[in-house]
Amino acid sequence: MENKIKAYNNVLELVGNTPLIKLNRITESFSGDFYAKVEAFNPGHSAKDRIALHIIEEAEKKGILKLGNTIIETTSGNTGFSIAMVAIIKGYECILAVSSKSSKDKIDMLKAMGAKVFVCPAHVSADDPRSYYEVAKRIHKELKGSVYINQYFNEGNIDAHFETTGPEIWRDMAGSLTHLVACSGTGGTISGTARYLKSKNPDIQIIGVDAYGSVLKKYHETGEFDRDEIYPYRIEGLGKNLIPTATDFSVIDRYIKVTDADSAHMARELAKTEGLFSGYTSGAAMQAVKQLAAEGVFSSDSKVVVLLPDHGSRYMSKVYSDQWMEDQGFFSPQVAEKPVAVEY
Ligand code: PMP
Repeated sequence: MENKIKAYNNVLELVGNTPLIKLNRITESFSGDFYAKVEAFNPGHSAKDRIALHIIEEAEKKGILKLGNTIIETTSGNTGFSIAMVAIIKGYECILAVSSKSSKDKIDMLKAMGAKVFVCPAHVSADDPRSYYEVAKRIHKELKGSVYINQYFNEGNIDAHFETTGPEIWRDMAGSLTHLVACSGTGGTISGTARYLKSKNPDIQIIGVDAYGSVLKKYHETGEFDRDEIYPYRIEGLGKNLIPTATDFSVIDRYIKVTDADSAHMARELAKTEGLFSGYTSGAAMQAVKQLAAEGVFSSDSKVVVLLPDHGSRYMSKVYSDQWMEDQGFFSPQVAEKPVAVEY
């Protein structure tokens, strides 16, 4: 008998087709059935693999990107990691302009993936020539054949999810889906997924998760960009202080806001109850589900998908550190109980 090697040709073949996992204990007291779309199963451990691959392959098809060219973006987070991963496999240079606020761990992670990293001062305005936006723009202008991903204003961000995340959820839920709960940062994930799902069944309710300190919810409700909504918050990757064109507000039925503390506690609870070690915004999405359940949004017939954007390993020094939780005041009696027994 001929031996057949079963192997993927490279990591990129593993992007997408992430599993839906039924939630059991954490949603026990809520009406309805709940399923998590776990994006940490992507090889770069987040939903951003999808947009990095899609946008880069579209640029290749259009002849904008050729072997040896350079891909540019301004992020130290998941998108940067995914772009660096795709660039390495496809043979592109990758330049990431990041803010000096980014942790050394994050910068080292990008370097480990072969990216060239420009660390730019954090406390300058966005239009200052030293800001990471301006540095990325300048490199893009000067480097012929370079592609600037600019995820907040790139329609490819929506398309990636329209073509993959939406169809996967529709297929795996076998048409029974009633609600989607997803975080909104650039808005690419929720908009692309919702566009596809609404094209199949316009009755599916799409609920965006926003942070206190972000303008998205108010903008969706009033069309007004209200600067008074903006203040610092801890959750990374969720909410915004500008209106990204990668968000299609027309396919989102409503937004719900969650707090830093509740989201952190929910991320920890998700790990402890379901064995799903997920990121801070996954905790935010679960917190949104909890608030919606308390509002009576779901019934026993509800089939709800909650999208979990990334993996917990990137938050070891944050939500998964008791010291960090303590320092934020998240264990204070008015917020939550401090864990009593600590075993090592
Ligand atoms: N969670 C995390 C951890 C993210 O990095 C992002 C991306 N900013 C989001 C949620 C939101 O996804 P999107 O940008 O597609 O709205």
